[in-house]
Amino acid sequence: MTASRPNQIANLDDGIQIVGAGPAGLVCAIVLAKAGRQVKVREWRADVGHRFHDDFQGLENWTDKRDVLDELAQAGVAADFSHHGMTEGVVLDSRAKARKVHGSRPLFYLLRRGSAAGTLDRALLDQARAAGVEVRFNDRVKNTGGRMILAGGPRRADIIAVGYVFDTTMPNGAWLAFGPQLAPKGYAYLLVHQGRGTVASCMVSGFRDQAKYLAATVAHFQRYAGLKMLEPKYFGGFGNVRLPRTAMQGGNRVIGEHAGFQDALAGFGLRYAMRSGRLAAESIINGADYTTSWRRALQPGLRASIVNRFLFNQTGPRGIDYLISKLGSADAGAALRAAYGLSLPKRLLLPIAQMRYRGPLKDSSCNHLNCDCVWCQHGAHDAANT
Ligand SMILES: Cc1cc2nc3c(=O)[nH]c(=O)nc-3n(C[C@H](O)[C@H](O)[C@H](O)COP(=O)(O)OP(=O)(O)OC[C@H]3O[C@@H](n4cnc5c(N)ncnc54)[C@H](O)[C@@H]3O)c2cc1C
Repeated sequence: MTASRPNQIANLDDGIQIVGAGPAGLVCAIVLAKAGRQVKVREWRADVGHRFHDDFQGLENWTDKRDVLDELAQAGVAADFSHHGMTEGVVLDSRAKARKVHGSRPLFYLLRRGSAAGTLDRALLDQARAAGVEVRFNDRVKNTGGRMILAGGPRRADIIAVGYVFDTTMPNGAWLAFGPQLAPKGYAYLLVHQGRGTVASCMVSGFRDQAKYLAATVAHFQRYAGLKMLEPKYFGGFGNVRLPRTAMQGGNRVIGEHAGFQDALAGFGLRYAMRSGRLAAESIINGADYTTSWRRALQPGLRASIVNRFLFNQTGPRGIDYLISKLGSADAGAALRAAYGLSLPKRLLLPIAQMRYRGPLKDSSCNHLNCDCVWCQHGAHDAANT
């Protein structure tokens, strides 16, 4: 995507155009359409959720006192996708010591991503259409003009996740595991619900060896969580993390992962995507300044996540194990909310963290030469230049 020349600026009578039918773009479209605006969403692919594989993801519920589903409801977005509130889980530290964690309310909502019925993506699409939004598929936007909202998702890969979705006879549960042999500077996860599961290694470095880390992750969960996979199907994906100075591009508002809005520690981007979509819509409806509103609502959490990422990079396994021991002995939701607050020590660390947190995110093993990692194989690198 490139900014257009003046004669390419979209006709304002056409209403508002949103580039990308991900959670950010669709939530933005729903809010605008419910306020009576004419909205067109233009999506490159043939359907929603093409980046995903019916895999489980977690809609985090710890960065804000307000429950994330209440936040969506206040924006006029119904939680009519399959979801399940997860109040407990098991964290395996770097020595495979298991600690149970629990929250007094759901720590996150387990949901599915992709194009199938019941996924978040399908549900948001249906809500957008019901609100009167026109969604055009197979419509790749190459030139952007005024009055567009850019919601095109990641521009490059700072984090990759590779894993399997599978059927299983295992009981429901959520497991998280740490260790450089499983996911360099990242984590591995196993999510199981009602006979379906997702297991993945989510790594920030070492992309070239993704197959080795995935095999180690599967073996680890087989040994320590009783992982049983039936008909596993491989999947891979990537994510982009950065704190933008401005989320405006050529006069257009930029939302979701396109703007870089994503938790720098763990790659949780869904809540930021949907919240930034709502903020951009409200700024149009109310005439508010989008820059002021996203900075107020998103910047503190994003900054805290950058400091968390910096500390995680620095401390290695000992720091992680200490943090896990703290999570195990308290209400994990409250502990995580505190960890994502921008306390005074974090504010003091922020300047150095901002300069150095990206170190491991620049994966030197993945140089696009003879590399078959998920980023090198996805085949749309032109988007990285926008
Ligand atoms: C494997 C994996 C697991 C994850 N797990 C979690 C998790 O558990 N919790 C969490 O919070 N986050 C998770 N994330 C991150 C989360 O999925 C993203 O942050 C979120 O999808 C971002 O939403 P978005 O709407 O900004 O972008 P996307 O969901 O990427 O949507 C962008 C859309 O724009 C379209 N598009 C792009 N360019 C153009 C163009 N030029 N013209 C038209 N359309 C275009 C794309 O085709 C796409 O459909 C995960 C990511 C991956 C890859």
